[in-house]
Amino acid sequence: MSRSGFRVGRIFGIDIRLDWSWLLILLLVVWNLSVTFSSVHPDWGVGLVWGAAIVAALLFFGSVLAHELAHSLVAKARGIPVQSITLFLFGGVSNIQREPESPGGEFVMAVLGPITSLVLGGALLTAALASSGVRIALSDATQALKQMSPLLTLVVWLGSINVTLGIFNLIPGFPLDGGRVLRSILWAVTDDLQRATRWAAWVGQTIAWLMILAGIAMTFGAQIPFFGTGLGGGLWLAFIGWFLNSASVQSYQQVIIHDVLEGVPVSRMMRVDPPVCSSRCTVSRLVHDHIMGTDDQAFPILEEGRLAGLVTLEDVRQVGRDAWDTTTVQEIMTPVEKLIVTSPDEDAGQALDKLSSTDVRQLPVMSDGNLVGLLRRRDVIKWLQLHAESIRG
Ligand SMILES: [Zn+2]
Repeated sequence: MSRSGFRVGRIFGIDIRLDWSWLLILLLVVWNLSVTFSSVHPDWGVGLVWGAAIVAALLFFGSVLAHELAHSLVAKARGIPVQSITLFLFGGVSNIQREPESPGGEFVMAVLGPITSLVLGGALLTAALASSGVRIALSDATQALKQMSPLLTLVVWLGSINVTLGIFNLIPGFPLDGGRVLRSILWAVTDDLQRATRWAAWVGQTIAWLMILAGIAMTFGAQIPFFGTGLGGGLWLAFIGWFLNSASVQSYQQVIIHDVLEGVPVSRMMRVDPPVCSSRCTVSRLVHDHIMGTDDQAFPILEEGRLAGLVTLEDVRQVGRDAWDTTTVQEIMTPVEKLIVTSPDEDAGQALDKLSSTDVRQLPVMSDGNLVGLLRRRDVIKWLQLHAESIRG
């Protein structure tokens, strides 16, 4: 997830990134708000409607960012590095490098996001109420909305969206904040992070399936408390449920995989004698001597016994067939300076993080500057399959 999207800025030393799905949400929010604003305020001109919708959407962005910054700043205060915050569909994700070490740490880190949203929302709604007097509270709601100035409309909308953001994130299903709060409590009670994670993820999946079922029932005309009925609302609820379910399954697997790999050194699962090639070797020799006849995807290139780079099948595919005899592997390899490497003693969990965050299939394993092996993604997967019993735990 950290690689998707693009960077928009940097706050407190944390990169702020936008996922592509965010653009879709931005368009949906702007479009939806322009419809709402023009129906509530028929007297507003087209420019004002769209202007207010765009400003509201940007303030929504700011609200999600404030929520994520709350998580990230707690993490940083506890000495856990935070690389980036990515805003995507439904919210944001803070790329916090480590899990907190204690239930208390996790509790504070998780709960401060929703609290920030609720406090922000509460303050905005109180301010709106105070500035307009009791008129809004007492008179008929639609009438009150009609009388609101553009500024007041924005403040009321932003206040309610922050309250919604806070409440949604407090749903006690892992990996939502509420699920992390639940996990930290279960963790404190059982003193077993794996079991706490399993229970919190199970609650998350149960809630997700209830949302999906309720959503489907709504599309068939059932009346669900708080959510009402209808095709649009039902599909939306089912979609959020589906999203929560897959997030829950995925993050549970990640935590468990990490747990299983923790303390296991890279040397236990690396490929010890990877086929190597000299840097002066031609592409056609690499193909005939190495690529054909093995199922390896990447070949370390050596120069006087030292690692000089790495050639993958994709690199070879870039070279035209007729140039194979005249091109050396040195010309197409990724040079060693640009390679991400690991060492035999490194924790396999950390090495897997390197593999996923850089989106490569293998890491050269280096010891004292010498190549001692290759850690391939599928070696890690094979190891995990062999230890599947303890993963199911
Ligand atoms: Zn949060």
